[in-house]
Amino acid sequence: MTNPAPWRATVLTLFPEMFPGPLGVSLAGRALAAGLWQLEVRDIRASATDRHRSVDDTPAGGGPGMVLRADVLAAAIDAAGSGSERPRLLMSPRGRPLTQARVVELAKGPGPLIVCGRFEGVDQRVIDGRGLEEISIGDYVLSGGEIAALALIDACVRLLPGVMGKEASGTEESFSDGLLEHPQYTRPQLFEGVPIPEILTSGDHAKVAGWRRAQSEALTAARRPDLWAQVPTPVPNRAGRQKKPKSTTDG
Ligand code: SAH
Repeated sequence: MTNPAPWRATVLTLFPEMFPGPLGVSLAGRALAAGLWQLEVRDIRASATDRHRSVDDTPAGGGPGMVLRADVLAAAIDAAGSGSERPRLLMSPRGRPLTQARVVELAKGPGPLIVCGRFEGVDQRVIDGRGLEEISIGDYVLSGGEIAALALIDACVRLLPGVMGKEASGTEESFSDGLLEHPQYTRPQLFEGVPIPEILTSGDHAKVAGWRRAQSEALTAARRPDLWAQVPTPVPNRAGRQKKPKSTTDG
């Protein structure tokens, strides 16, 4: 069997020098060097056509700042020649918030084309005309889409086959089962007078798993009532399974 093409991220940006940046070190960097994934960075400005290579203009209707031109950005997207099978994303505070579930989907696919906005954003006609899916990394405003793209790519890359040391580390962590992760501990056994919870060093795997699950549930209920509301209530059984704890908003 021939190897499929590696997962590839294509990034359209006005600041190509921001890549690979943090993706060039540690886990993602080693995987990039090993060819487990590819990064294609394209300068939007290369698609500017006028004498001054301008990429932005003042907003129609007035207001502060500048807007990325539809013609320039559309030409940059078209020049990237991404097949229609690749997701086309626009990093945008107006987008649907990025979730681990979407990251898993993106990591399973061929890899996205990602447009990084700048200034006040991009002309709506290119979002519509090129079918860009807007994705936000949180309810705050960055000065550009590059850091958001780095975050999205990083989250995908660590899930690619062969990138993380142990398969399991991708399935047991926060969000993978709709819950936040339990607390972690390692040596020294005693730190500033505080020992590692005894159960974790007991060697009783079932008890450890139960403790971790209970910790995850309590943390999620206290910190993220929004996530907790989505966790299915366990079916009550005769063994007296624990009731789903109530969420509190003051955690
Ligand atoms: N005026 C816009 C903000 C533009 S910020 C608005 O109010 O919606 C400039 C660029 O930074 C955006 O085009 C987008 O690409 C990126 N960006 C800013 N905040 C982001 C966020 N929370 N998630 C993803 N991308 C973001």
